[in-house]
Amino acid sequence: MTESPRAWRRELVGSMVEAAVLFSRDGQVLAINDRARDLLRTTPDVATDGVVETLSNAELSRAVDEVRVTGKPITVETEHGHRHLRASASMVSGETLLLISDRTQEKRVEELRRDFVVNASHELKTPVTSIQTLAEALSVVIHEQPERVPALVTRLGDEAERLAALVHDLLDLRRLEERGTREREPVDLTELVRQVVAAQVGRADGAGVELSVAAPDHLYVDGVAGDLEVIVKNLVVNAIKYNRTGGSAQVRLRPIGTMIEFAIEDTGIGIPQADLPRIFERFYRVDTARSRETGGTGLGLSIVRHAVEHHGGTIHVDSRLGQGTTFTVRLPAGRPPPGEPNR
Ligand code: ADP
Repeated sequence: MTESPRAWRRELVGSMVEAAVLFSRDGQVLAINDRARDLLRTTPDVATDGVVETLSNAELSRAVDEVRVTGKPITVETEHGHRHLRASASMVSGETLLLISDRTQEKRVEELRRDFVVNASHELKTPVTSIQTLAEALSVVIHEQPERVPALVTRLGDEAERLAALVHDLLDLRRLEERGTREREPVDLTELVRQVVAAQVGRADGAGVELSVAAPDHLYVDGVAGDLEVIVKNLVVNAIKYNRTGGSAQVRLRPIGTMIEFAIEDTGIGIPQADLPRIFERFYRVDTARSRETGGTGLGLSIVRHAVEHHGGTIHVDSRLGQGTTFTVRLPAGRPPPGEPNR
C-alpha cells in the first residue's frame, strides 16, 4: 500500500465525529480517532496491532472478526471500562470499519425508568390490595356483624384516598418531568403562599402545629401559578406532617437580588444527615411507616425539585435531627403586572 491512501484513511477516520476504527483485510489497525482511543482506553500501534490488542474487548473483537468473515454488517452492545458501548462493524472495500457510540447515559435513563415503573407499581399495589380485602370483609360483615361496618368503611375511604393521592402525585411528576416550555406570568407569591397556608390551617390545628407567614405584600415571581402552588403546598404539608405537637412552622418570603426567597422552617423531627442527599429522590422516605401513616407518597419532594428547576430556581435543605428542618427555595423575581405596586 502506498503512503497516500493510508494517510487519507487516517484523515477520514480522524475527521469523524463518532468514535471510529478501521481495520485492514488482514485485521491490522489502519486508523483510529481520538474519540475511539478515549472510549476504548487504548493507544494501539497503527499498522502493527491487530483486532484483539486494539479493542481489548472480546465482544467487539468477535464482531469485527465476524464481519471480516461474512461481510455482513453487525451491531453489538457491550460494557467496557464502566461505559456502555454500542458498536457497528461493516465492510468497506474489503476493510472493516467499526463505529462506536457511548450509550452510558441512555442506559442509565432506561434503568431509572424501569426502576420507576417497578416502584410505582409496588406503591400502587398496597392500597389496591387493601381496598380489595376491605371490600371482601365488608360483604361478609354487612350481614353478620353490621356494627363493624362503619369502621371498615372509614378504612376503605382512607385507602381510596391514599390511592388517589398517589395517582395525583404520579400525574404531577409526569407533567413536570416533561421538558417543554410553559407560559410563565408574574405570580404574586405572597398572595399564593397566604392562600395555601390558609387552606392548611385545619391540618396544622389537627396536628397541634402553629403555622405562620412572615412576608411583605406582593412579591412577584416569574412562574406558572399551578406549579408554584405545588411547591408551596408540598413543603407546607411536610412541615406539618413531620412536626410534633406544640411545634411550629413558619414561612418567610424576601427579595434577594433578582430572586425571591421562600423559606419554610419547622420545629419537627428533622432529617438525619445521611438521608439529606436522597430525600429528593422519587419514593425515598426516611421513615416509611411515618410517611404512610401521614398519607405520604414519597413523591412530594421530587415533584418540588422538578417544579423549582423548571422555574430556573434552586432548592436547599438544612436540618438538625430532633430540632427541625428548613427548606429554602429561590425563584426568579417577576415584574408586577401594570398598575400593581413595584417592590
Ligand atoms: P412523603 O410523601 O413521604 O412525605 P416527600 O418526598 O415529601 O415524601 O419527602 C420525602 C421524605 O423526606 C419524607 O418521607 C420524610 O422522611 C422526609 N421529610 C420531608 N420533609 C420533611 C420535614 N419537613 N421534616 C422532616 N422530614 C422531612
